[in-house]
Amino acid sequence: MTTSIGGDDIQPLTLPPTGPPMRVLAAEDNPVFQSMLKTMLTKWGYQAVVARSGTEAWRILQSPDAPRLAVLDWMMPGMDGVEICRAIRSANREPYIYILLLTARTESQDLIEGMDAGADDYLTKPFNAHELRVRLHAGRRILDLQEELLKAREALREQATHDGLTGLINRNSILETLDDELSRATRAGQPVSVLMADLDRFKSINDCHGHLAGDAVLREAARRLKSAARRYDSVGRYGGEEFLIVLPGCDASHAAVQGERMREAIGATPFLTPCQPVAVTASLGVACSSNCSPGALVRKADDALYAAKAKGRNQVVVYSTEWSPDACTMHSL
Ligand code: GH3
Ligand code: MG
Ligand code: MG
Ligand code: MG
Repeated sequence: MTTSIGGDDIQPLTLPPTGPPMRVLAAEDNPVFQSMLKTMLTKWGYQAVVARSGTEAWRILQSPDAPRLAVLDWMMPGMDGVEICRAIRSANREPYIYILLLTARTESQDLIEGMDAGADDYLTKPFNAHELRVRLHAGRRILDLQEELLKAREALREQATHDGLTGLINRNSILETLDDELSRATRAGQPVSVLMADLDRFKSINDCHGHLAGDAVLREAARRLKSAARRYDSVGRYGGEEFLIVLPGCDASHAAVQGERMREAIGATPFLTPCQPVAVTASLGVACSSNCSPGALVRKADDALYAAKAKGRNQVVVYSTEWSPDACTMHSL
């Protein structure tokens, strides 16, 4: 039997410098191989998670914090290793589980069947400990690469949907949210309101205190709007110093109350900036859906905002169907 414990006579393999040991599932029904695998894995710096049957292995692999590296014996009671491979691959889960199939079957047809079922690598018993060690290391390399890819994808997704300055969702995302909420509300017969908030005379903040101070004001305004919002409202940066807030299930009068809370949150205390505290106010326009498109609803909120500016700023104006720009008959709070 060529199986040997240890692998001391080969060069140590480089393991990541920090972090807890990587967990490796060792699924093996034979107690001798079981304890051998556990000893080897521990010695090589892994944390062994032992399963004594296929059913136990499958249960462990289904848990959210399942080990990402698995050594599966082929022949096991309950589910065999190949069945587990198939089940894992058809679940198509993320992050990827790297599977090394361990078996006494040596025929090329067996290897084909095992890899075809979804195994990433294959080792025949009796196995050489060094070989298992380097194969595990290769698996780990693949998993590290996948982790980097997932992180890069997540960072790209964040960049595409969020505003880098304030951390709020960006214009496209808030409009998508509005679209979704309007569809949902139409089905449920519920209202949706939007608030368009715009900082007053923001240009003069930039002019008097500089762009860095202006940026700090935008970040703090975003934070205050978010804290004043309800848990199920969405706050997005619509443009430079304009914010769009989507309020599901909210009629115009409730939205006006919410708008007033936000106006107060902005104006309550001066904003701290890199230079000096700056007093900031905001004007808000409110519009409630009546089966209109996202674009039409935003336009109404924008019209109401325009009226709030015209009426002297630092106030909330609700769009009304009786309103005409010339008569300026909007309800002002
Ligand atoms: P009003 O009360 O009528 O809204 O006046 P305003 O000065 O706030 O509006 P205006 O549209 O004239 O100016 C908006 C300014 O916002 C102009 C632009 O330079 C500035 N701005 C847009 N995006 C940013 C940003 O990311 N950072 C900073 N610091 N300024 C920005
Ligand atoms: Mg077995
Ligand atoms: Mg402004
Ligand atoms: Mg503006």
